[in-house]
Amino acid sequence: MKKNFLKIFLAGIFLTMFSSNLFAKINVVATLPWIADLAKQIGKDHVSITTLVKTSQDPHYVEAKPSLIIAARKADILMYNGLDLEIGYLPVIIESSKNPNIQPGKSGNFDCSQFVTPIEKLSSVDRSMGDIHPRGNPHYHFSPANVLKVAQGMTEILVKIDPANEAYYRKNYQAFYSKWQEKIKKWKSANLAGKKFVAYHTLFSYLAKEFNFQIVGCIEAKPGIPPSSGDIQKIIDTINKTKPAAILANVYSPKKPVDFVAEKTGLKVILVPHDVGSLPGTDDWFSFMDKVISLLSEA
Ligand SMILES: [Zn+2]
Repeated sequence: MKKNFLKIFLAGIFLTMFSSNLFAKINVVATLPWIADLAKQIGKDHVSITTLVKTSQDPHYVEAKPSLIIAARKADILMYNGLDLEIGYLPVIIESSKNPNIQPGKSGNFDCSQFVTPIEKLSSVDRSMGDIHPRGNPHYHFSPANVLKVAQGMTEILVKIDPANEAYYRKNYQAFYSKWQEKIKKWKSANLAGKKFVAYHTLFSYLAKEFNFQIVGCIEAKPGIPPSSGDIQKIIDTINKTKPAAILANVYSPKKPVDFVAEKTGLKVILVPHDVGSLPGTDDWFSFMDKVISLLSEA
C-alpha cells in the first residue's frame, strides 16, 4: 500500500514537472489590439499576450516607455503592423529590449504586413515631406482579405515556434476561416457600394476598395499633417461638390477641424472604431468589423 502511494506521489511530481513544460505558453507581444486579438484567436490557451498600444492611443504616435521595453524583453515573438506605422517607437523598443528573439531578421520579429500588398504607396519615400505613410497605407486591418492572410501567416509562425501543438493552431485557424466566410457574406450584403464619405485620416482606403465605396477626400490632406486653412477650404469645396454621406472620425482624431467642417457643410460626424476595443461592442476583430460596416451602411 505504502509503495503504491509513493509511486503515485512520484508520478504526480513527474507529471507536474512535465506538464509545466508541455503547457508553457508562447509569450506574444503585439503592438496593436487587432494583432493581439488575431494571435488570441489562433493561439488561444497556448499563448499569453501583451498589447503595447492602448485603444485610446493614436497608433502612429506612441512613446517608447520603459514599461513597453520591459514587456518586449520577455517576448518569444513580437507581432507588429509594419509599413512604418510603428516606426516612431518600435525600433527603439526592440533595440532597448536587448531580446535576441525579436531582433530584425529573427523568427520572433513578425511583421504582419509581409502578407499584404500595400495600396497608396508613394513613389518617393521621404518622410520629411510629412506624409507618415510613405511605404503605403498601413491600415489594412480594415481589409478582410488581408486580415485573413495575416491570420494564416500567424498560424504558420505559431506552428514553427511550437510544432507540438500544430493541430491545435490549425484547428483554431479553420474556425477563424469559417467565421470569416460567414461574416464576409453578411458584410458584402450591407449596402456600402456607391456610397461616399469624407474621413479625417486615410483609415478606410482598403475598406473602400474591397466594398466598392468612395472616400472623396480627407480633412487631413496629407496623413500626419494637421490641415491648414487652405486644406480645410478644399475639403469643404469637395464636400459641396460630391455630397458624401458623413465625416468619418475616430477616438483620437482632433475634434476642432472635424467639427468645423461638419458645421460649415451640415454633414454629420460618425465616430468609427479605429481598432479592436476602441468603442463598445468591438471586443474582437469580427465585432470590430461588424460595427464599422453597420455604422457606414446606416449613414
Ligand atoms: Zn495612418
